[in-house]
Amino acid sequence: MRIIDLRSDTVTLPTEEMRRAMYEAEVGDDVYGEDPTINKLEELSAQTLGKEAGLFTVSGTMSNLIAILVHTQPGDEIILGDEAHILWHELGSAAALGGTVLRTIPNKADGSIDPDIVEQTIRPESALLPKTTLLCLENTHNRCGGTVLTPEYTSSVVELAHQHGLQVHIDGARIFNAAVALDVPVSKLSAPADSICFCLSKSLSAPIGSVLCGTHDFVERARKRRKMLGGGMRQAGIIAAAGIVAIQKMVDRLAEDHANAKRLAQGLSQIPGIIVDPGKIQTNIVFFEPPTDMSALDFTLQMKTRGVKFNALGRRMVRAVTHRMLTSQDIDEALGRINDFVKEM
Ligand SMILES: *Cc1c(COP(=O)(O)O)cnc(C)c1O
Repeated sequence: MRIIDLRSDTVTLPTEEMRRAMYEAEVGDDVYGEDPTINKLEELSAQTLGKEAGLFTVSGTMSNLIAILVHTQPGDEIILGDEAHILWHELGSAAALGGTVLRTIPNKADGSIDPDIVEQTIRPESALLPKTTLLCLENTHNRCGGTVLTPEYTSSVVELAHQHGLQVHIDGARIFNAAVALDVPVSKLSAPADSICFCLSKSLSAPIGSVLCGTHDFVERARKRRKMLGGGMRQAGIIAAAGIVAIQKMVDRLAEDHANAKRLAQGLSQIPGIIVDPGKIQTNIVFFEPPTDMSALDFTLQMKTRGVKFNALGRRMVRAVTHRMLTSQDIDEALGRINDFVKEM
């Protein structure tokens, strides 16, 4: 039986072209700044995102942590949405390693946070209060279902934060999905922020890595933090080579993943008992609730035995992510197997 893996777009395997680029990559010692392939990836990333410089890191989690370490001092407060990846899925690193306070405000269903609430949450200068120094946004928003923040929203909330002396970091793990969904250059989404990171290893299909972008000064300080965390890699041009292919060749095709996510959501909405809103699908993530009162975990375990894999992200929340390894026929096959299971329930 063919396994249809909808757990995450991180399961995408490197393409033939990536493997060739990796084999042929010119490399050097990157801690001395002498890996030409990494330098090229960092320049290409910065250019693409409209930033001065970039830093190749091990993972999105490391990029977010480095950004926090550069933008804040221990004891500072960070404002972020209550569904943020940084809050939920990064093991509390901002607190454990950055000594920062995470102050959440509600994420709206569209992944945004209300600028008025942001403004009310920023603490006044005081000898008694933690200093609010950073605002974190997430685009696309994972736990809000792959929702997209627009350039207009981003600019306005960043401007507000800047008026109050805050820096803004965007967790843009899937920022290219947002750009494709909105049909705007990705730089429109990244330009307003002080820093942004994105993942090479998700929909873009590279095996490893993330790039953190910002000003020259920011990246210089980020480079030291990366080394401090043990993330200074040597001839890592071997993996950066795949990242270059990812940015140059794998962005336009994301539209296929988005179409497949809509197809999946529409199909799910036809299956009795499943709760899903196909109108909400903006990129490659679909959240749905299984029939009756079945828990998300039970549903994923049952479907796994039928060769369809999902992630349970809440008691009733099942997450499906479409990606390059799945065709529209795979989506139809998955829907067929779900339908069979629901009929037998
Ligand atoms: C996946 C993800 C990350 C972390 O990336 P890793 O490379 O898995 O560490 C950060 N933020 C968001 C929104 C993500 O989806």
